[in-house]
Amino acid sequence: MALMPVEKAKAQILAGVSPLPAEKVAITSAHARVVAKDLKAPRDQPPFAASAMDGYAINSADGAAGAELKIIGVSSAGHGFKEALGPSQAVRIFTGAPVPTKADAILIQENATAAEGFVSVKVSVKPGQHIRPRGLDFRKGDILLRAGQRLSARDIGLAAAMNFSHLPVRKKPVVAILATGDELVEPGGRPGADQISSSNNLALAAFIEWAGGLPLLLGTVKDSVPSIRAAVRRAKNADVLVTSGGASVGEHDLVRKALEAEGIPLAFWKIAMRPGKPLMFARSKKQRIIGLPGNPVSALVCARVFIKPLLDRLLGISREELTLFAALAAPMRANDERQEYARGEIRRGKDGSLSVIPFPSQDSSMLAVLARADCLIVRPPHAPPAEIGEKIEIVLLDF
Ligand code: AMP
Ligand code: MG
Repeated sequence: MALMPVEKAKAQILAGVSPLPAEKVAITSAHARVVAKDLKAPRDQPPFAASAMDGYAINSADGAAGAELKIIGVSSAGHGFKEALGPSQAVRIFTGAPVPTKADAILIQENATAAEGFVSVKVSVKPGQHIRPRGLDFRKGDILLRAGQRLSARDIGLAAAMNFSHLPVRKKPVVAILATGDELVEPGGRPGADQISSSNNLALAAFIEWAGGLPLLLGTVKDSVPSIRAAVRRAKNADVLVTSGGASVGEHDLVRKALEAEGIPLAFWKIAMRPGKPLMFARSKKQRIIGLPGNPVSALVCARVFIKPLLDRLLGISREELTLFAALAAPMRANDERQEYARGEIRRGKDGSLSVIPFPSQDSSMLAVLARADCLIVRPPHAPPAEIGEKIEIVLLDF
């Protein structure tokens, strides 16, 4: 079987996938959710001309050094002064307070001396100084949050400043996760002499949360067609089913047989990538099924390469991922026909510049190296040898 290019496999997985429906959630649980429709500011911010400093609101025509102004009141945050300023008058004002009518500048308190109801100007005042005009931050009708963006902490602040208590977001894709293998026990269990603890399903669940989905852990099942079939049935309402293990063609690799017994025909691909050659893919109605290889590094690298874009599509994330580059700190050999995702470390040079260096051990079972890595170093098929200093594509391991 010819090896399938990564991009082609990705395109087949994404074909026909459209965003999930929207739902309204309280802003308190909207962090990291994806906005489902453009959001316009319902009012100006600030909604009034506001003082940026503590001092005196005055008319700049009265603000020459040496002038004496009568203090007629106070404007503090949340408690504006309601009257207009007359000639040679001032209002004591604090940061965030509305600037009274007819005042057009703030004399900061450091440049003023106040005594017995009067304030004298020590440094001449310019029109507009230390005033934040109405609408400086944003104006009513401005689109500040757009459909397809994932809400950062900063965006949550902005949405709150816009006065929203609820936000329209995409439903989280439900991703059922199944680990298969006779050798696996749950973490904390009692592994026999020939057993290991199952790490893929828990790592994948955390990965799915990072990517904006809702993981549904189906647990770890034995290499038997009936137990895999039962788990597949439990996953039937999930948007995505991810299995790990049993993806090569060994006689214990029964995921394909179980899916076929459930009437789900399966494409089995050998992908031109390292790690992670064997990958299974199927569609069952609207559900996408991805069978990951069992090796922990392969499973997570394949999740990053194929499942992240699938979740992005289900979430309606509009922004293309940025392609990042870094300079190599060690040479790399010419590559073969498989696109390589080498685990690497980002280093800072004496001059402050960042460079990347692959770990010497790249075996796809080495989870400790993956956990320690900062990035994957991407080498296209048949890439020629790479020299120190060459700019090379990286994918940050920020999950
Ligand atoms: P398989 O794809 O089932 O042939 O598994 C390939 C390798 O990955 C074997 O060494 C398995 O023991 C290991 N493996 C499979 N599933 C898991 C899992 N859930 N957690 C940790 N290692 C696994
Ligand atoms: Mg197995």
